[in-house]
Amino acid sequence: MAPIIDIHTHLFSALDIPIEGYLRSRRSEKSTLSNPEYIANFFPGPQIFKYLADRMRERVITRQIKKDKLGPFYKFLLCVFEKIMEQHIREWEDSLTKTLARNASDLQKIWPKVDLYIPLVIDYEYWFSNTMDTRIDDQIRLMYEKVILPSRGKFHPFVPFDPVRELTFQDKLMNPDGQKEDISSLKLVKDAINEKGFIGVKLYNSLGYKPTGNKDTDEGKDRITQLYRWRIGVRNEKMLYRFDGNRMDDVLNKLYAWCEKEEVPITAHCMMHGIEAYPQASEHFGSAKFWRDVLDKYPKLHLNLAHFGWNPVPGHGYHAQDNWMREIVDMICKYDHLYADVSHHEVTSRGIRKELVDAYKKIQNDFESSLDKIRQHILYGSDWHVLRRMNNYESFMDRYIEIMAETGFYDEKSQDDFLGLNAMKFLGLNPGGQNRARLESFYKTHKITPPPWFQAAND
Ligand SMILES: [Zn+2]
Repeated sequence: MAPIIDIHTHLFSALDIPIEGYLRSRRSEKSTLSNPEYIANFFPGPQIFKYLADRMRERVITRQIKKDKLGPFYKFLLCVFEKIMEQHIREWEDSLTKTLARNASDLQKIWPKVDLYIPLVIDYEYWFSNTMDTRIDDQIRLMYEKVILPSRGKFHPFVPFDPVRELTFQDKLMNPDGQKEDISSLKLVKDAINEKGFIGVKLYNSLGYKPTGNKDTDEGKDRITQLYRWRIGVRNEKMLYRFDGNRMDDVLNKLYAWCEKEEVPITAHCMMHGIEAYPQASEHFGSAKFWRDVLDKYPKLHLNLAHFGWNPVPGHGYHAQDNWMREIVDMICKYDHLYADVSHHEVTSRGIRKELVDAYKKIQNDFESSLDKIRQHILYGSDWHVLRRMNNYESFMDRYIEIMAETGFYDEKSQDDFLGLNAMKFLGLNPGGQNRARLESFYKTHKITPPPWFQAAND
């Protein structure tokens, strides 16, 4: 039996992320009046964001006490947002106001065929103004107690690493709550992987740090990266955390070296737009090509560039300058342990679906001689619950399988690679893999019978 693995999901609630700061970070001077990013600048934009964020955070609690109805004003605002953004905001709100455990149960109901779900925990606290309510170490503990242990092998998440939290800890500075930072990001990662059933690390470059090369080479002439980081400091009220680029690289290198040695896979957000420190931060910090230097230095590191470098704006498909899919395919040909997941591709909207079909056809033309290798390095992933904003999100998996069959990228036989077997390699879960050994002892310690997908890998 080949397993089905969803390599990219989320379970977080509005209490786990600085939600108001994120909403406000989207403000932009560039756009027109029809654009919510522009409207966010002026009264009552910021006030509305604050109200929405407060209400969402409160509802995570009240929904656990009683059946909390939306309320007419809140519902009205959500509807207005839906109209402006042309996304199903009320659907997403439903997940953002539920606990980890309830979200985990919802997810299993939508795609019950999936054998293993990988929720990615994220650490946004040091990049957006205001703070989150649940400390990141509590989020890890809750994930362990409320999701990993009860699921008995159905959920194994990725733990986030944040270089700025690590440096703040090292320098004994205040965290955004005004307390001395007592969490080492690196220690948090190691503990989650070694003791708590987590199986990988999540990085988020669009928040404001490059995979490496955070120090500008020529001060004065080329201080671009540093200036972009200062911009985040000013915009998002985080001036305290402008660490030297060399030090950011140092702690990131420590992480990469440890992950390579221990065979711990990394997933890095790699898409234009999406959640980012300011509009376009993804381009300045998270471009796929920035990973080349890391992979040259750590050739055995297992890396997944999430979202396949896709640009979700219509008309910016495979051939566009600001679409990194082609670059990633080129990198997959060169590096042996680089993967890309297809999460959050809008396969249920007709226009984008056409662009994706076109992309998979063109890859087969452009990289004809390396197709076998490329097919071994693409991973199925949904990006649920963020995906709930999309039309007909429930059909995401079926639509993707359909596109792969239609373009001839995967036929019925090789479809197993896409849906799970490639992920088994990326995750190091086949016999001999270090993650497999860690899970074996985790199951033993907690008296969990290894799940069928885990046992099947022995056959
Ligand atoms: Zn995601």
